[in-house]
Amino acid sequence: MARSELTSNNGAPSEPGSTTPEAHPHLPSVHVAAQTALACRLAEQYGRKPTMNALRKAIADARTEKRPLTQDEAAEAAACHLAAASASKLKTVYNLTGTILHTNLGRALLAEEAVEAANRAMRNPVALEYDLSGGRRGERDDIIRGLLCALTGAEDATLVNNNAAAVLLTLNTLAAGRSVIVSRGELIEIGGAFRMPDIMASAGVRLTEVGTTNRTHLRDYEGAIGPETGALLKVHTSNYRIEGFTKAVPARELSALAKKNNIPLVDDLGSGTLVGLSPFGLPDEPTVSEALQAGADLVTFSGDKLLGGPQAGFVVGRRDLIEKINKNPMKRAMRADKIRLAAIEATLRLYQDPDRLTERLPTYRALARSLDDIRACADRLLPAVAAKLGEDFSVSIADCESQVGSGAAPTATLPSLGLAVRPVGAQSAGKALGGLAAAFRSLPAPVVGRVKDQALIFDLRCLEDEAGFVDNLSSLDIEEGAGGAARK
Ligand SMILES: *Cc1c(COP(=O)(O)O)cnc(C)c1O
Repeated sequence: MARSELTSNNGAPSEPGSTTPEAHPHLPSVHVAAQTALACRLAEQYGRKPTMNALRKAIADARTEKRPLTQDEAAEAAACHLAAASASKLKTVYNLTGTILHTNLGRALLAEEAVEAANRAMRNPVALEYDLSGGRRGERDDIIRGLLCALTGAEDATLVNNNAAAVLLTLNTLAAGRSVIVSRGELIEIGGAFRMPDIMASAGVRLTEVGTTNRTHLRDYEGAIGPETGALLKVHTSNYRIEGFTKAVPARELSALAKKNNIPLVDDLGSGTLVGLSPFGLPDEPTVSEALQAGADLVTFSGDKLLGGPQAGFVVGRRDLIEKINKNPMKRAMRADKIRLAAIEATLRLYQDPDRLTERLPTYRALARSLDDIRACADRLLPAVAAKLGEDFSVSIADCESQVGSGAAPTATLPSLGLAVRPVGAQSAGKALGGLAAAFRSLPAPVVGRVKDQALIFDLRCLEDEAGFVDNLSSLDIEEGAGGAARK
């Protein structure tokens, strides 16, 4: 291709008289196309320079493809280029995967109160590190310290970029150059990039593994403690469960051992939660205050998992240790900005009124949503989706299971309902399903479901904006996306 283009360009240099209409159909000049009404509007909307570039590209494309182009067509093509180029890469999607806190889809959705607080902080100067009573420099942690301590019973608290940073900073502060003892049953990997042994190496601490994969006893920890030991670490096995012949040492016993040896016990809770999960029909996870009561000296947890806030990592616990952490120069490299601090503060305030959490915090709203409510939503949506998909697909309401996601209650599920879409009479159901899923993913607001049992399942637990969902469906390109694949 490239070669023949080259030849034709070289063979017929821009000598107007020598070109035949077949070889070089008529093309407008950029400046003529720029005079069209549409191009003027584009220049207004996107700027003159991007518009000229888009017109140039439209004309160049027509030249390459040897097709004629009017000046109005050039402007229309430029409008498409500009619209595509200005669309955000961070697309808003419908998370109908059934995983409430989906790491790849941005985890927790923020409460309106948090969104407003973040907005205010973006628009205005804020007293981020400014003590208004004394007119002096203040500390950004002061904004959330009181709330975190009140909600967890901790003596002190600090905040960094995410929980991975909280663990890294905590281990580095307590045990750089020394060893940290962890059970072999708790050497987790989360999402590939967070592997406990690697985090420990990056923190400059030596990993001392004790016990076995399925059973670790108190005596294993006891035997490993020596003058080199900087901390004992307990890690929440966030994305798996070891079942059967197992033994893990309860936090309370570990804490007694740590105290006897004057070594701090760190409990990495992962998701961490400030309230129990049993009201939602889920097994209870240890709350942050329970982990502290069980004797952990420091507890680390995430902001955007079950807590339902923005990405953040918290360390709460003993004041002397938190003070050491705050003096670590690494802390400055991991600090949270004012936007997130504002959102975190507003999110934490919602916990002061736990009775209304399920109304205000989207994460808990999704957890608490009743099957009747989800069924009513499915009943309303079924006709619209079925009509849009036509005869090549069947749409039905199906039982499915939601999960919390992001390492909270990893093996527990919540009964839910969804729309199940199946290709009808297709030669290759798998291919048709793949095409259908791709068509939904190429909508203006991509819809992400889950393929299971030869069906594309849209779990409706997390769908709140039904009208927007139906509107969005009007752009579904079934011919190219799915129907074509179904007919092949
Ligand atoms: C999720 C998790 C982390 C990492 O937290 P981020 O906030 O994603 O950085 C660390 N430890 C455990 C046990 C986790 O579950």
